[in-house]
Amino acid sequence: MKTLNNGKKSGYSYTRSWMQMHCFGLIPSSVAKMSSGQSKIFLGNIFHCQNDPAKKQLYRISNEQGGFVIVKRSKIMAIGRKEDLEQARAQHLADEQDVMVTVLSDRQLLIPGFVDTHIHAPQYPNCGLGYDKPLLEWLQAYTYKLERKYRDLEYSRKVFNAVVRRTLNHGTTTACYFASLFQDASLILVDAVLKYGQRAFIGKINMTTLAPDDYVETPEETIKLTRKFIESVRSKIAN
Ligand SMILES: [Zn+2]
Repeated sequence: MKTLNNGKKSGYSYTRSWMQMHCFGLIPSSVAKMSSGQSKIFLGNIFHCQNDPAKKQLYRISNEQGGFVIVKRSKIMAIGRKEDLEQARAQHLADEQDVMVTVLSDRQLLIPGFVDTHIHAPQYPNCGLGYDKPLLEWLQAYTYKLERKYRDLEYSRKVFNAVVRRTLNHGTTTACYFASLFQDASLILVDAVLKYGQRAFIGKINMTTLAPDDYVETPEETIKLTRKFIESVRSKIAN
């Protein structure tokens, strides 16, 4: 969850046709850091989604004005109205000595984190560039040039750390990332989400056609490298 004062989120705009060309090999890769951290209570204006079986709707938005959120070791344990706080605190935090209480101002809202369902991490330096060209020219003029740079792992580290920090700062607590064609660079993105505690799905990009000769893999290579990528991610999470 994220406290926001202005509710603005920076936009990423990529066309769907490009996505269909290369969005293969997407795998769940990261879990947010769920098992550490101080216990917390937030008090104030809280928006959240909840089941509403009476109306046969999956979710409805609820504004718990004068509400609370209880967080224990980075996990949300309870959300409710202020009058139920003491009971909930006794239930969930009875054994906790050190609880940080944050009281939001009247102008602050606590809302669920944003979920970005489609973000190309390597394209971050190109954010907002290239609206003068149609898709295929845009790929040639801007995209492939930049995507090739991720052979350089130092550059990858710099950009991917920046992407994760920036999206988290804007309230994106979960992201579905398209990483690089290059496996080592893609693993650096995995390191970044683990380091900063963002929940993410990360896929190695697979390009076998319709791209420059030095930015494609054969179908055999791409399957082999994707399997290797999945194994590497699993071992990173296990450790
Ligand atoms: Zn895409």
